[in-house]
Amino acid sequence: MNLRLNNLQGISSATLGELIRDDFPILRRRFGPHPLVYLDNAATTQKPQVVLDALVDYYAGVNSNIGRGFYTLSMAATDAYENARETVRRTLNAGRPEEVVFTSGTTGAVNLLADTFGRSRVGAGDEVVVTGMEHNSNMLPWRRLCETVGARMVVVPVEADGRVAPARFAAALGPRVRLAAVAHASNVLGTVNPVRTLIEEAHRHEIPVVVDGAQAVPHRPVDVRALDADFYCFSGHKVYGPMGIGVLYGKYALLSELSPYQVGGGTVKGVTLDTPVGYVPVPARLEAGTPHVAGAVGLAAALDYLAALGWQRVRGHDEHLVRAAVETFGAVPGVRVLGDPAADPNGIVSLVVDGIHPYDVGGHLNQHGVAVRSGVHCANVFVDTFGVVGTVRLSFGIYNTEDEIDVVRRALSTVAPGVW
Ligand code: PLP
Repeated sequence: MNLRLNNLQGISSATLGELIRDDFPILRRRFGPHPLVYLDNAATTQKPQVVLDALVDYYAGVNSNIGRGFYTLSMAATDAYENARETVRRTLNAGRPEEVVFTSGTTGAVNLLADTFGRSRVGAGDEVVVTGMEHNSNMLPWRRLCETVGARMVVVPVEADGRVAPARFAAALGPRVRLAAVAHASNVLGTVNPVRTLIEEAHRHEIPVVVDGAQAVPHRPVDVRALDADFYCFSGHKVYGPMGIGVLYGKYALLSELSPYQVGGGTVKGVTLDTPVGYVPVPARLEAGTPHVAGAVGLAAALDYLAALGWQRVRGHDEHLVRAAVETFGAVPGVRVLGDPAADPNGIVSLVVDGIHPYDVGGHLNQHGVAVRSGVHCANVFVDTFGVVGTVRLSFGIYNTEDEIDVVRRALSTVAPGVW
């Protein structure tokens, strides 16, 4: 492991970024005279060398298909995959490894749920509750489900502070509501929902809750049992792991209810042409075909890396950068910070630059080596509520530094319509 663990003793959250940057090879890139200032971590995070090594080591030394081989290499690959599942279980504090299903990402997990759990629970005239801050990936699968079965999608509006108020959420939980889907944290504002309370409200009416944790898992310890989440989804690539791997956590009893999302190899006990197909238990029943074994191994390496840094340090660093950004950009004339990201920092600060389209701002920052996302961030409905065409989103990762905020501040001071 290339993490400078010994050096971590006694270092402050403020300097975490400087200390671990060397673990991330891509951060050495320069664009002309400008070093890369990567502030698009909510879209995807960069990978530490330990994750890159885990992928290469897997392919160089272990690669084979899992589950069906009675030879040493296949058994080693199966172990690597199942050990990765155990790492995810531990990270989420799930009760058992069978509650962890590997998917392609958060989008894959929510679609799986909409097509299995949703199809079995939601019928004509029923309702599905979502919040107004959902990413399209935790809204469109539910909307399509509702359109398909003749149900109604109820959208709980978000408060001015960028959070869902429990009272407003509770008011939406009518007698026809069959499930609710809520974001743990907003990918636009970085605000964090009171998910424990929202889940409690839903459970009062025996309504199961799907939590989209794509923006929470990279920034805070998540305990699915403390939350009492029925389902919890996240993406590996947003938590310093590889692309193409994600997680669906589900309570065992609920997951066991689900019929296969896709059918094929790995999902069946045995097949004859004239008898009903018998499916294996979860999680294999929900992981048809060859899974992304290397991705799971890489994800486990990323989660181990974060655990070695320690959540207290990661949270402290996050808070430090978010508060510094809010303070810095709050003081720049013509720049507005949306919502109140400093109240419970979660790595995101969204800016609006008066009179300049966010795409123009993004293009201008790019000229200074700064990578940010501009626009509606796949949350069209939410961004519309602010009456803006989009935002310029700074999203921080564990390797970012306060100096990088200053690079953005200086670059923003020269932005003008069409300047880039
Ligand atoms: N949910 C939220 C809150 C997100 O921010 C994202 C990605 O930006 C997603 C879901 C979709 O994640 P993925 O594209 O990894 O499936």
